[in-house]
Amino acid sequence: MAAVDDPKGFYRLLEVPAGASQDEIKKSYRKLARMYHPDANPGNPEAEEHFKLVNEAYAVLGDPEKREQYNRFGTVGNGGGGYGPFSGQDPFGDIFGDLFDTFMGGGSRARANAPRQGSDLEVSLNVSLREAAAGVTKKVNVTRRERCEKCGGTGAELGTNVESCRDCGGRGQVEQAARTPFGQFVTVVPCARCGGTGRVIKSPCTECRGEGQKRVKRELEVRVPPGVDTGVRLRVNGGGEAGINGGPPGDLYVHLEVEPDPLFIRDGNDLHTQSVVSFPQAVLGCQVEVSTLDGLEKKDLPAGTRPGDTFRLKGKGMPRLRGGGRGDLIVHVDVDVPKNLSEKAKRLVEDLASEMGTPVQPAGFLDRLKTWLS
Ligand SMILES: [Zn+2]
Ligand SMILES: [Zn+2]
Repeated sequence: MAAVDDPKGFYRLLEVPAGASQDEIKKSYRKLARMYHPDANPGNPEAEEHFKLVNEAYAVLGDPEKREQYNRFGTVGNGGGGYGPFSGQDPFGDIFGDLFDTFMGGGSRARANAPRQGSDLEVSLNVSLREAAAGVTKKVNVTRRERCEKCGGTGAELGTNVESCRDCGGRGQVEQAARTPFGQFVTVVPCARCGGTGRVIKSPCTECRGEGQKRVKRELEVRVPPGVDTGVRLRVNGGGEAGINGGPPGDLYVHLEVEPDPLFIRDGNDLHTQSVVSFPQAVLGCQVEVSTLDGLEKKDLPAGTRPGDTFRLKGKGMPRLRGGGRGDLIVHVDVDVPKNLSEKAKRLVEDLASEMGTPVQPAGFLDRLKTWLS
Protein backbone atom coordinates (compact mmCIF):
# COMPACT_ATOMS: atom_id res chain seq x y z
CA MET A 1 0.00 0.00 0.00
CA ALA A 2 1.29 3.42 -0.91
CA ALA A 3 2.25 5.89 1.78
CA VAL A 4 -0.78 7.77 3.01
CA ASP A 5 -0.42 11.33 4.18
CA ASP A 6 -3.93 11.49 5.69
CA PRO A 7 -4.68 15.04 4.52
CA LYS A 8 -8.05 15.25 6.25
CA GLY A 9 -6.83 13.46 9.37
CA PHE A 10 -9.33 10.61 8.97
CA TYR A 11 -6.95 7.97 10.29
CA ARG A 12 -5.96 10.22 13.17
CA LEU A 13 -9.64 10.82 14.00
CA LEU A 14 -10.36 7.11 14.06
CA GLU A 15 -7.19 6.52 16.06
CA VAL A 16 -5.90 3.81 13.75
CA PRO A 17 -2.65 3.47 11.76
CA ALA A 18 -2.82 3.94 8.00
CA GLY A 19 -2.34 0.20 7.49
CA ALA A 20 -5.23 -0.80 9.76
CA SER A 21 -7.56 -3.54 8.55
CA GLN A 22 -11.25 -2.79 7.91
CA ASP A 23 -12.04 -4.71 11.07
CA GLU A 24 -9.70 -2.60 13.16
CA ILE A 25 -11.21 0.56 11.71
CA LYS A 26 -14.71 -0.65 12.47
CA LYS A 27 -13.78 -1.63 16.00
CA SER A 28 -12.15 1.69 16.74
CA TYR A 29 -15.10 3.58 15.24
CA ARG A 30 -17.58 1.71 17.42
CA LYS A 31 -15.60 2.61 20.49
CA LEU A 32 -15.29 6.27 19.55
CA ALA A 33 -18.90 6.61 18.44
CA ARG A 34 -20.05 5.29 21.79
CA MET A 35 -17.68 7.61 23.61
CA TYR A 36 -18.69 10.76 21.76
CA HIS A 37 -22.35 10.04 20.99
CA PRO A 38 -24.51 13.06 21.96
CA ASP A 39 -26.78 10.82 24.05
CA ALA A 40 -23.78 9.89 26.16
CA ASN A 41 -22.62 13.51 26.41
CA PRO A 42 -25.67 15.67 26.97
CA GLY A 43 -24.90 19.37 26.82
CA ASN A 44 -21.39 18.87 25.53
CA PRO A 45 -21.06 20.55 22.09
CA GLU A 46 -17.39 19.57 21.77
CA ALA A 47 -18.27 15.89 22.04
CA GLU A 48 -21.01 16.37 19.48
CA GLU A 49 -18.61 18.09 17.09
CA HIS A 50 -16.08 15.32 17.53
CA PHE A 51 -18.81 12.73 16.99
CA LYS A 52 -19.59 14.33 13.63
CA LEU A 53 -15.94 14.32 12.60
CA VAL A 54 -15.52 10.69 13.59
CA ASN A 55 -18.62 9.82 11.56
CA GLU A 56 -17.26 11.70 8.59
CA ALA A 57 -13.97 9.84 8.81
CA TYR A 58 -15.72 6.50 9.12
CA ALA A 59 -18.01 7.21 6.17
CA VAL A 60 -14.83 7.17 4.10
CA LEU A 61 -12.48 4.73 5.80
CA GLY A 62 -15.27 2.29 6.64
CA ASP A 63 -15.89 1.80 2.91
CA PRO A 64 -12.94 0.02 1.24
CA GLU A 65 -13.58 1.71 -2.11
CA LYS A 66 -13.74 5.22 -0.70
CA ARG A 67 -10.81 4.49 1.54
CA GLU A 68 -8.73 3.49 -1.47
CA GLN A 69 -9.77 6.70 -3.21
CA TYR A 70 -8.86 8.76 -0.15
CA ASN A 71 -5.51 7.02 0.17
CA ARG A 72 -4.67 7.81 -3.46
CA PHE A 73 -6.10 11.27 -3.99
CA GLY A 74 -6.56 12.58 -0.44
CA THR A 75 -10.18 13.30 -1.22
CA VAL A 76 -13.32 11.47 -2.15
CA GLY A 77 -15.15 12.67 -5.22
CA ASN A 78 -18.86 13.34 -5.12
CA GLY A 79 -19.45 11.28 -8.20
CA GLY A 80 -20.79 8.43 -6.11
CA GLY A 81 -23.47 10.67 -4.66
CA GLY A 82 -21.88 11.66 -1.36
CA TYR A 83 -21.55 9.63 1.79
CA GLY A 84 -25.24 8.96 2.17
CA PRO A 85 -25.98 5.60 3.73
CA PHE A 86 -28.27 4.78 0.85
CA SER A 87 -25.62 5.28 -1.79
CA GLY A 88 -24.02 1.97 -2.43
CA GLN A 89 -22.39 0.25 0.50
CA ASP A 90 -23.56 1.40 3.90
CA PRO A 91 -20.60 1.43 6.23
CA PHE A 92 -22.78 2.14 9.27
CA GLY A 93 -25.16 -0.72 8.74
CA ASP A 94 -25.29 -2.77 11.88
CA ILE A 95 -23.25 -0.33 13.89
CA PHE A 96 -26.07 2.11 14.42
CA GLY A 97 -28.25 -0.77 15.44
CA ASP A 98 -25.70 -1.56 18.15
CA LEU A 99 -25.46 2.03 19.24
CA PHE A 100 -29.14 2.51 19.65
CA ASP A 101 -29.42 -0.74 21.54
CA THR A 102 -26.83 0.60 23.91
CA PHE A 103 -28.52 3.92 24.42
CA MET A 104 -31.95 2.46 24.78
CA GLY A 105 -30.81 0.40 27.73
CA GLY A 106 -29.30 -3.00 28.15
CA GLY A 107 -29.45 -3.98 24.53
CA SER A 108 -33.07 -4.94 24.90
CA ARG A 109 -35.65 -3.49 22.66
CA ALA A 110 -38.44 -4.86 24.82
CA ARG A 111 -41.31 -2.45 24.76
CA ALA A 112 -41.65 -0.28 27.82
CA ASN A 113 -45.22 -1.42 28.37
CA ALA A 114 -44.51 -5.16 28.23
CA PRO A 115 -44.96 -7.09 31.50
CA ARG A 116 -41.64 -7.55 33.26
CA GLN A 117 -40.62 -9.42 36.34
CA GLY A 118 -39.61 -7.23 39.28
CA SER A 119 -35.97 -7.06 40.32
CA ASP A 120 -34.48 -9.51 42.78
CA LEU A 121 -33.37 -8.17 46.12
CA GLU A 122 -30.54 -9.31 48.33
CA VAL A 123 -30.13 -9.05 52.08
CA SER A 124 -27.67 -10.59 54.48
CA LEU A 125 -28.64 -12.34 57.67
CA ASN A 126 -26.49 -13.36 60.62
CA VAL A 127 -27.34 -16.42 62.66
CA SER A 128 -25.52 -17.94 65.61
CA LEU A 129 -23.98 -21.39 65.31
CA ARG A 130 -26.64 -22.77 67.59
CA GLU A 131 -29.38 -21.24 65.43
CA ALA A 132 -27.71 -22.71 62.36
CA ALA A 133 -27.71 -26.11 64.07
CA ALA A 134 -31.32 -26.10 65.20
CA GLY A 135 -32.85 -24.05 62.38
CA VAL A 136 -34.57 -20.77 63.17
CA THR A 137 -37.14 -18.34 61.84
CA LYS A 138 -35.76 -14.82 61.67
CA LYS A 139 -36.97 -11.45 60.55
CA VAL A 140 -35.23 -9.45 57.84
CA ASN A 141 -35.92 -5.87 56.85
CA VAL A 142 -36.28 -5.05 53.17
CA THR A 143 -37.24 -1.86 51.38
CA ARG A 144 -38.92 -2.80 48.15
CA ARG A 145 -41.32 -1.51 45.55
CA GLU A 146 -44.81 -2.88 45.96
CA ARG A 147 -47.97 -2.41 44.02
CA CYS A 148 -49.83 0.67 45.25
CA GLU A 149 -52.90 -0.57 47.08
CA LYS A 150 -54.86 2.62 46.64
CA CYS A 151 -54.96 2.53 42.83
CA GLY A 152 -54.35 -1.19 42.43
CA GLY A 153 -51.19 -0.50 40.50
CA THR A 154 -52.82 1.48 37.69
CA GLY A 155 -51.37 4.82 38.85
CA ALA A 156 -54.69 6.56 38.23
CA GLU A 157 -56.65 8.24 41.01
CA LEU A 158 -59.71 6.32 42.15
CA GLY A 159 -62.65 6.90 39.85
CA THR A 160 -60.50 8.01 36.92
CA ASN A 161 -59.28 6.04 33.97
CA VAL A 162 -55.98 5.30 32.38
CA GLU A 163 -56.12 6.32 28.75
CA SER A 164 -54.24 4.94 25.82
CA CYS A 165 -51.60 7.42 24.59
CA ARG A 166 -52.70 9.20 21.44
CA ASP A 167 -49.18 9.95 20.18
CA CYS A 168 -48.11 6.34 19.93
CA GLY A 169 -51.50 4.67 19.80
CA GLY A 170 -50.69 2.88 23.06
CA ARG A 171 -47.61 1.15 21.67
CA GLY A 172 -45.20 3.18 23.78
CA GLN A 173 -42.85 3.62 20.83
CA VAL A 174 -42.62 6.04 17.97
CA GLU A 175 -40.47 6.05 14.89
CA GLN A 176 -38.14 8.99 14.73
CA ALA A 177 -36.00 10.20 11.86
CA ALA A 178 -32.56 11.25 13.05
CA ARG A 179 -30.62 13.56 10.76
CA THR A 180 -26.90 12.98 10.46
CA PRO A 181 -24.42 14.45 7.98
CA PHE A 182 -24.92 11.31 5.93
CA GLY A 183 -28.64 11.20 5.64
CA GLN A 184 -31.60 10.16 7.73
CA PHE A 185 -31.77 7.22 10.05
CA VAL A 186 -35.12 6.03 11.20
CA THR A 187 -35.02 4.72 14.71
CA VAL A 188 -37.65 3.48 17.09
CA VAL A 189 -37.59 5.45 20.33
CA PRO A 190 -39.77 5.46 23.44
CA CYS A 191 -42.74 7.77 23.07
CA ALA A 192 -41.99 11.10 24.74
CA ARG A 193 -45.57 11.81 25.74
CA CYS A 194 -46.19 8.61 27.71
CA GLY A 195 -42.58 7.77 28.56
CA GLY A 196 -42.86 4.50 26.68
CA THR A 197 -45.70 3.10 28.74
CA GLY A 198 -48.37 3.62 26.09
CA ARG A 199 -50.67 4.97 28.78
CA VAL A 200 -51.54 8.46 29.91
CA ILE A 201 -52.78 9.16 33.38
CA LYS A 202 -54.77 12.37 33.61
CA SER A 203 -55.27 12.31 37.37
CA PRO A 204 -52.36 10.49 38.99
CA CYS A 205 -52.98 8.54 42.17
CA THR A 206 -52.05 10.75 45.11
CA GLU A 207 -50.59 7.83 47.02
CA CYS A 208 -47.99 6.74 44.43
CA ARG A 209 -47.92 9.90 42.25
CA GLY A 210 -49.04 7.85 39.29
CA GLU A 211 -46.28 5.25 39.42
CA GLY A 212 -48.58 2.44 40.49
CA GLN A 213 -45.86 1.31 42.89
CA LYS A 214 -44.56 2.52 46.20
CA ARG A 215 -41.38 1.92 48.16
CA VAL A 216 -42.28 0.29 51.42
CA LYS A 217 -40.30 -1.10 54.31
CA ARG A 218 -41.23 -4.63 55.19
CA GLU A 219 -40.23 -7.00 57.90
CA LEU A 220 -40.23 -10.46 56.37
CA GLU A 221 -39.91 -13.79 58.12
CA VAL A 222 -37.26 -16.10 56.76
CA ARG A 223 -37.13 -19.74 57.75
CA VAL A 224 -33.53 -20.85 58.09
CA PRO A 225 -33.26 -24.67 57.83
CA PRO A 226 -30.94 -26.63 60.16
CA GLY A 227 -27.37 -27.12 58.93
CA VAL A 228 -26.80 -23.89 57.01
CA ASP A 229 -23.31 -22.48 56.76
CA THR A 230 -21.80 -19.12 55.87
CA GLY A 231 -22.20 -18.52 52.14
CA VAL A 232 -25.50 -20.37 51.84
CA ARG A 233 -28.10 -18.33 49.98
CA LEU A 234 -31.78 -18.78 50.68
CA ARG A 235 -34.36 -17.77 48.12
CA VAL A 236 -37.71 -16.34 49.11
CA ASN A 237 -39.90 -16.69 46.03
CA GLY A 238 -41.67 -13.46 45.17
CA GLY A 239 -39.95 -11.58 47.98
CA GLY A 240 -38.33 -9.02 45.66
CA GLU A 241 -39.62 -5.93 43.91
CA ALA A 242 -43.11 -5.84 42.44
CA GLY A 243 -43.40 -6.72 38.76
CA ILE A 244 -43.91 -4.06 36.11
CA ASN A 245 -47.00 -3.90 33.90
CA GLY A 246 -48.49 -6.90 35.64
CA GLY A 247 -45.31 -9.02 35.57
CA PRO A 248 -44.46 -11.31 38.51
CA PRO A 249 -42.45 -10.00 41.46
CA GLY A 250 -38.71 -10.68 41.79
CA ASP A 251 -37.22 -12.95 44.42
CA LEU A 252 -35.48 -12.14 47.66
CA TYR A 253 -32.08 -13.72 48.22
CA VAL A 254 -30.89 -14.03 51.81
CA HIS A 255 -27.14 -14.44 52.22
CA LEU A 256 -26.39 -16.23 55.45
CA GLU A 257 -23.47 -15.67 57.72
CA VAL A 258 -22.98 -18.02 60.65
CA GLU A 259 -21.30 -16.18 63.51
CA PRO A 260 -18.29 -17.71 65.24
CA ASP A 261 -19.07 -19.51 68.48
CA PRO A 262 -16.98 -19.23 71.66
CA LEU A 263 -17.05 -22.99 72.27
CA PHE A 264 -17.11 -24.64 68.87
CA ILE A 265 -15.15 -24.33 65.67
CA ARG A 266 -16.93 -25.64 62.62
CA ASP A 267 -15.37 -27.73 59.89
CA GLY A 268 -18.06 -28.64 57.41
CA ASN A 269 -20.53 -30.73 59.39
CA ASP A 270 -18.02 -31.53 62.15
CA LEU A 271 -17.43 -29.39 65.19
CA HIS A 272 -14.26 -29.09 67.25
CA THR A 273 -14.05 -28.16 70.87
CA GLN A 274 -11.55 -28.31 73.72
CA SER A 275 -11.58 -30.04 77.07
CA VAL A 276 -9.00 -29.08 79.69
CA VAL A 277 -7.95 -31.59 82.34
CA SER A 278 -5.47 -31.24 85.17
CA PHE A 279 -2.10 -32.97 85.13
CA PRO A 280 -3.13 -35.66 87.65
CA GLN A 281 -6.38 -36.26 85.75
CA ALA A 282 -4.44 -36.80 82.56
CA VAL A 283 -2.01 -39.15 84.29
CA LEU A 284 -4.57 -41.17 86.19
CA GLY A 285 -7.52 -41.01 83.84
CA CYS A 286 -10.79 -39.35 84.73
CA GLN A 287 -14.30 -38.56 83.68
CA VAL A 288 -14.78 -35.24 81.90
CA GLU A 289 -17.88 -33.24 81.05
CA VAL A 290 -17.88 -32.02 77.49
CA SER A 291 -20.12 -29.21 76.24
CA THR A 292 -22.08 -30.26 73.17
CA LEU A 293 -24.85 -28.51 71.23
CA ASP A 294 -27.24 -30.74 73.18
CA GLY A 295 -25.82 -30.01 76.62
CA LEU A 296 -23.13 -31.56 78.79
CA GLU A 297 -21.98 -35.05 77.99
CA LYS A 298 -19.84 -37.30 80.21
CA LYS A 299 -16.85 -39.09 78.76
CA ASP A 300 -14.21 -41.34 80.39
CA LEU A 301 -10.64 -40.44 79.58
CA PRO A 302 -8.09 -43.24 79.87
CA ALA A 303 -5.04 -42.96 82.13
CA GLY A 304 -2.07 -41.46 80.31
CA THR A 305 -4.03 -39.04 78.14
CA ARG A 306 -1.66 -36.59 76.45
CA PRO A 307 -2.16 -32.96 75.53
CA GLY A 308 -3.51 -32.84 71.96
CA ASP A 309 -5.20 -36.25 72.16
CA THR A 310 -8.62 -36.17 70.57
CA PHE A 311 -11.76 -38.16 70.90
CA ARG A 312 -14.88 -38.12 68.81
CA LEU A 313 -18.51 -37.91 69.87
CA LYS A 314 -20.42 -39.42 66.97
CA GLY A 315 -23.44 -37.53 65.73
CA LYS A 316 -22.86 -34.53 67.99
CA GLY A 317 -21.83 -32.16 65.19
CA MET A 318 -23.90 -30.02 62.82
CA PRO A 319 -26.92 -31.43 61.01
CA ARG A 320 -26.41 -32.02 57.31
CA LEU A 321 -28.27 -29.47 55.21
CA ARG A 322 -29.10 -32.16 52.69
CA GLY A 323 -29.39 -35.84 53.40
CA GLY A 324 -30.06 -35.91 57.13
CA GLY A 325 -27.85 -37.10 59.97
CA ARG A 326 -25.24 -35.10 61.79
CA GLY A 327 -21.49 -34.69 61.77
CA ASP A 328 -19.26 -35.46 64.77
CA LEU A 329 -17.91 -33.45 67.66
CA ILE A 330 -14.16 -33.79 67.96
CA VAL A 331 -12.83 -33.00 71.40
CA HIS A 332 -9.22 -31.87 71.76
CA VAL A 333 -7.75 -32.55 75.20
CA ASP A 334 -5.46 -29.99 76.74
CA VAL A 335 -3.55 -30.61 79.95
CA ASP A 336 -3.32 -27.71 82.32
CA VAL A 337 0.17 -27.22 83.72
CA PRO A 338 -0.16 -25.16 86.90
CA LYS A 339 2.08 -22.12 87.33
CA ASN A 340 1.73 -21.47 91.03
CA LEU A 341 2.02 -24.57 93.16
CA SER A 342 1.80 -24.56 96.91
CA GLU A 343 4.99 -25.62 98.75
CA LYS A 344 3.37 -28.96 99.52
CA ALA A 345 2.28 -29.57 95.93
CA LYS A 346 5.76 -28.64 94.76
CA ARG A 347 7.36 -31.20 97.06
CA LEU A 348 4.92 -33.85 95.89
CA VAL A 349 5.77 -33.17 92.26
CA GLU A 350 9.50 -33.26 93.05
CA ASP A 351 8.98 -36.59 94.80
CA LEU A 352 7.09 -37.79 91.77
CA ALA A 353 9.91 -36.68 89.53
CA SER A 354 12.56 -38.55 91.43
CA GLU A 355 10.28 -41.57 91.68
CA MET A 356 10.09 -41.48 87.88
CA GLY A 357 13.87 -41.11 87.59
CA THR A 358 13.73 -37.59 86.15
CA PRO A 359 15.10 -35.41 88.97
CA VAL A 360 14.42 -31.74 88.57
CA GLN A 361 17.06 -29.11 89.18
CA PRO A 362 16.36 -25.51 88.65
CA ALA A 363 18.52 -24.52 85.68
CA GLY A 364 19.12 -21.33 83.78
CA PHE A 365 17.71 -20.92 80.30
CA LEU A 366 21.06 -21.42 78.55
CA ASP A 367 21.75 -24.59 80.54
CA ARG A 368 18.37 -25.92 79.58
CA LEU A 369 18.98 -25.03 75.97
CA LYS A 370 22.36 -26.81 76.00
CA THR A 371 20.78 -29.92 77.49
CA TRP A 372 18.08 -29.81 74.90
CA LEU A 373 20.48 -29.35 72.01
CA SER A 374 22.95 -32.05 73.06
ZN1 LIG B 1 -47.20 7.39 23.87
ZN1 LIG C 1 -51.36 4.53 43.44
